[in-house]
Amino acid sequence: MSDNQTALLHHQHMIACRHCDLLQAEVPLQRDSDAHCVRCGALLYRGAGKRLEWMLALTLGSAVLLVVSNLFPIAELQVQGAYNSTTLAGTVVALADQGRPLVAVLVLLTTILIPALELVALLYMLVPLRLGRVTLDLPLAFRLLLMLHPWSMMEVFLLAILVTLVKLADIATIVPGISLWSFAALIVLFTGISATFSVRDFWTWVAERGQDGEGGRAGADASAAGMQGQG
Ligand SMILES: [Zn+2]
Repeated sequence: MSDNQTALLHHQHMIACRHCDLLQAEVPLQRDSDAHCVRCGALLYRGAGKRLEWMLALTLGSAVLLVVSNLFPIAELQVQGAYNSTTLAGTVVALADQGRPLVAVLVLLTTILIPALELVALLYMLVPLRLGRVTLDLPLAFRLLLMLHPWSMMEVFLLAILVTLVKLADIATIVPGISLWSFAALIVLFTGISATFSVRDFWTWVAERGQDGEGGRAGADASAAGMQGQG
C-alpha cells in the first residue's frame, strides 16, 4: 500500500457529491484550488485560501453596508408638528424618549451593536489571517463571535425591523431610502456569512500560519474549549 493510500484511509472526513451522491474522501487542497467530483465533475469544496478571501469579502461588504445603514436616515419622526429625518441611532433615542426603553434596547442591540461587534471580531481575525499572521487574541475574538452569532441571525434582524415598523407607527414612518435598502442588503450578506462560516476553516487558516507560534498554541486551546458543532 502506498503512503498516499494510507493517508487516505486515515483521513476522517468523507464528503458526498451534491449532484450524484458519490461518497469521496476529502483530501487537503492547494490554497487556491478547488476539489471536483471524480464522477460528475461538480464542485465539492474550495481550497482554504479561496474560502478565506470569500469570507473576508463578505465581512468587508457587511461592514460598509452597516456604516451606510447608520449614516443615512431610516425614519421620519413627528415631533411637535414638525417632521425630522433620523438615523437608526436617532430612532433608538426617540423610542426611549417615547417611553419604550425595551424596544429601544432591542433595536439598538440587533440592528447596531451586535452586528458591529460581530463584524469587528471577524475583521480582527480575518485581516491578519489574510496577511499571513495570527492575532494573539484570536481565541478571545472567536469566543465573542460564537457568543454573538446566534443573536445576529437574519430572523432577529427581520424581527427587529418588524417590531420597529409596528411600534413606531404612531410616532414615525420608515423612509424607503438608502439606509433601508443598505440594511436589506446587509441582511443578505449576513446570511452569506452564516452560511460560509466554518469553525474548521478557521482552524485550518490558523494552523497554516501559526503552527509553532503563539497563535497556533492559543488556537489549540480555544479549540479544546469546545468550539465544535458549527461547520
Ligand atoms: Zn458527482
